[in-house]
Amino acid sequence: MSGAEDSRANGADPTRTVALVTGASAGIGEEFAEQLAKKGHDLIVVARSADRLETLAARLRTANRIAVDVLPADLTKPEDLRSVERRIEGLPRLDLLVNNAGFGTMGRFATLDADQEEAEIRLNVVALVRLTRAALPAMLRHDRGAVINVSSLAGFQAGPFNATYAATKAYVTSFTESLGEELRGTRLRVQALCPGFTRTEFQDRAGIDVSDLPDLAWMSAASVVESSLAALDRGELVHVPGVTNRLVAGLVRVTPRTVLRRIVGSTMRTRVG
Ligand code: NAP
Repeated sequence: MSGAEDSRANGADPTRTVALVTGASAGIGEEFAEQLAKKGHDLIVVARSADRLETLAARLRTANRIAVDVLPADLTKPEDLRSVERRIEGLPRLDLLVNNAGFGTMGRFATLDADQEEAEIRLNVVALVRLTRAALPAMLRHDRGAVINVSSLAGFQAGPFNATYAATKAYVTSFTESLGEELRGTRLRVQALCPGFTRTEFQDRAGIDVSDLPDLAWMSAASVVESSLAALDRGELVHVPGVTNRLVAGLVRVTPRTVLRRIVGSTMRTRVG
């Protein structure tokens, strides 16, 4: 590659596929970037930590001979979000959008910081909706492309002491499922990815102590992403990765919501004190 312009994942070369991943500086998003790079996609990586993104980009360019563009943005800020939307709208092609950036808050809702709760909705919901809206028109024009929206098992039921997070993820799953149906008859694919406990920085950032959870409850980010990409190839609209998670999802489906919220509520109550 010669010069900055040539190294951009700008979709101008029709033989190259391009994927944009939000929250690519850590955890599941970083793993999406790794696995998509190995599959030969050029990448646009988005998160707040420019330094972490640059380190990732340098590694992926060298290891996979792909173009990686770093787009630092705080997606809770309207001006940053607009700039990512504009970038998407200006791309000649975008093959895959992974709306992965997200965070959770935990505690009694009445005591949580209102601005943080709003930021959680801005990132987990508003950014995801706006970036999807920015990507779809060109995908529909070309009748080609896919969107993976990272949701959570937490969205399958109410989440006492985790109320805003669970509600944002219920939104993501419902929104994505609706889109999937709207897009029936096209070649576009969408997926709501619903992981359970995954070893990333997520729990630390949320201040959740999960040290007592058994190994069986956990998946690696690598397995989650591998499972998601395989499910996307199969056209699975709502994907729960891992046997344990699928078992939990199955139990949730057959348990009355009144019972579920009591179970979740009493488990979480002991954690928040
Ligand atoms: P993580 O390791 O904490 O990574 C979160 C990513 O989001 C980071 O790259 C972070 O980068 C980015 N991010 C956070 N705030 C941002 C902002 N305002 N603007 C732009 N990017 C931002 O967590 P993770 O587990 O990989 O989480 C990824 C997704 O998986 C989330 O949507 C989460 O809800 C979902 N999920 C996680 C689990 C789990 O157990 N880990 C389970 C179910 C679902 P910067 O800090 O550099 O901005």
